[in-house]
Amino acid sequence: MPEGHTIHALAGRLNGAFAASAVAVSSPQGKFADGAALLDGLRLVDASAWGKHLFAEFEGERWLNVHLGLIGKFSVMAHPGGHIPVEGQVRLRLLNDSWVGDLRGPTVCAVVTPQKVDQIRARLGPDPLRQDADPDLALYRISRSARSIAELLMDQAVLAGVGNVYRCEVLFRHRVDPFRPGRQILPATWRAIWDDLVSLMPLGVAFGQIVTMDDQVADAMAAVADGSAAATTAAVTGARLGNRFERRFYLYRRTGEPCRVCGRTVRTQLLAGRNLFWCGRCQRGR
Ligand SMILES: [Zn+2]
Repeated sequence: MPEGHTIHALAGRLNGAFAASAVAVSSPQGKFADGAALLDGLRLVDASAWGKHLFAEFEGERWLNVHLGLIGKFSVMAHPGGHIPVEGQVRLRLLNDSWVGDLRGPTVCAVVTPQKVDQIRARLGPDPLRQDADPDLALYRISRSARSIAELLMDQAVLAGVGNVYRCEVLFRHRVDPFRPGRQILPATWRAIWDDLVSLMPLGVAFGQIVTMDDQVADAMAAVADGSAAATTAAVTGARLGNRFERRFYLYRRTGEPCRVCGRTVRTQLLAGRNLFWCGRCQRGR
């Protein structure tokens, strides 16, 4: 499932491609024909993300709300010129003279009112990728919960944007026992997790892939600092994962393999609907 960094990157691409221009909006598949008609020919004011929700404001206070769900993809590519063929089930197509954006397989694609946008946002926890995020709101909910921290990190009402990869990896990075109830998590541990996500998730936006291992994080941060990451960011279309970094993690999808730190076998268990991966020796903290 696309995690929050994917949606923030998408918002950035939509702004770069369509902001301030009149956009031809259609639904080649037909399922979103009515919604597309409401937006067709309007100017895109601004696209933004909150967690896994995309909000694109068009003139006239019409908002497009998209949630990619498990398999959705929203690619934004340079206009190849001429007629652009429709490949697969394109729910929504955005088009201007220079760019084409094709949305396939979302769980949500709807035109909503500003009031509805506020309602959706009010249900979401703080998003580490947003400047206006308040980590204390998440701590408030975590510190009162008997649910495990691994489950809480996936709950979008507690924390918005984090999905299964970031949840597993960040708990390992801080050596936190994933089954520890939220109310036993030390506030200092939560701060460290939050600060880490605030550092890690922009790298996901910049490179179109999740980077959590220390050596790769260092390389990615250096590339952001010296400006060389920008070319990678521009090349990511949303059609597939970025490939600047070898796809490797501390734990994610490494069931049965040795922990990279202590050598014990990486374990897995279904938690909050997704496979949790953890190391029983390294992760004992709270
Ligand atoms: Zn270990």
